[in-house]
Amino acid sequence: MSILQLLKNKNNERFSFSIELIPPRRGMNLDNLLGLIEEVVPFRPLWVDVTSHSADVNYLENEDGSYKRRVWKKSPGTFGICAALKFKYGLEVVPHLLCAGFSKEETEDSLIDLNFLGITDVLALRGDKNYERAVTKDRTVNLYASDLVKQIVSMNEGKYLHSEGGAATKFSIGVACYPEKHLESPNLDYDLKHLKLKQDLGAGYAITQMFFDNSTFYNFVEKARGAGIIIPIIPGIKIISSHKQITSLPKAFNLSLPLNLTSKIDQAKASGAGTESKIESKIESKTESEVGVEWAYDQCIDLIKNGCKHIHFYVTQTAEPLVALLKRIYI
Ligand code: FAD
Repeated sequence: MSILQLLKNKNNERFSFSIELIPPRRGMNLDNLLGLIEEVVPFRPLWVDVTSHSADVNYLENEDGSYKRRVWKKSPGTFGICAALKFKYGLEVVPHLLCAGFSKEETEDSLIDLNFLGITDVLALRGDKNYERAVTKDRTVNLYASDLVKQIVSMNEGKYLHSEGGAATKFSIGVACYPEKHLESPNLDYDLKHLKLKQDLGAGYAITQMFFDNSTFYNFVEKARGAGIIIPIIPGIKIISSHKQITSLPKAFNLSLPLNLTSKIDQAKASGAGTESKIESKIESKTESEVGVEWAYDQCIDLIKNGCKHIHFYVTQTAEPLVALLKRIYI
């Protein structure tokens, strides 16, 4: 069942959630990720997204001192993980599909693989621009997520790249959006114009970049509706778990954190809560992760009160903070 159908079918009064996972680094096995999933499955996520990563360029030194250029993915395996989660746990899965680093031909092959696996939901993304790969005459690329949406919709109409026609696929397409605007966008309206284009070309829903102040999300949704965007806009929430993230997240994702949140995380770090000496002295103060869970919990309750019955969680490394938050929501 497509994500959109799942959202429509669920009792609107009920809170539901989805999660987004990152494949393990090349060479690692799936144990950690499957362990994480097993902790979350009892809470019945409506679906699981698995991120995709374009290749990095590495320079390896040859014996003669010259360099060999190698292009490789640090975290491959998106489709394999989706298939494993679908067949092992019966989960609905959404692989991410990127423009960056892939030709249209490679994208078509990936979509054929997904179709054969019975995976019919994808999140269509541009990916980050830092990827350089020579575009030769016989290679075609999707420059923007909207181009990728167009390609997927063509396949849904039975139109393939280099053949007369073929079996129509049934992909349901999600896209990304940015309450605090995309990094490269000169302003929010410019970004919304392109979000509308993705909708008009066939995207059925949008998931937001993480945000930490709900008013940013409400303002964004209001502006999006004003710009003619009618597809569901699903809020994306990240639980802060360490002090380091208060500087790394803004840098990586072009977003801001409210002063109230950063002060609490600063305090948690200064108090040393959770460290052995503090545990022994029995002084009660919150850990950085506990502050993060509490903040995300307050965000979720406010979103639910304001009519958002589905929330998407960005999960990394461990399920512990999300499980703590879900337990509080479901009490
Ligand atoms: P687009 O929609 O193509 O927009 C990119 C920029 O170009 C925007 O500034 C937009 O305004 C502008 N633009 C769009 N169309 C045009 C046009 N026709 N002409 C001129 N300008 C245009 N990255 C990964 O590498 N892997 C992942 O798995 C991944 N998952 C993500 C999941 C979510 C929910 C989100 C929010 C982001 C994710 N990203 C991921 C990051 C994303 O790939 C980057 O933010 C990327 O820079 C933009 O992707 P997009 O799909 O939003 O691009």
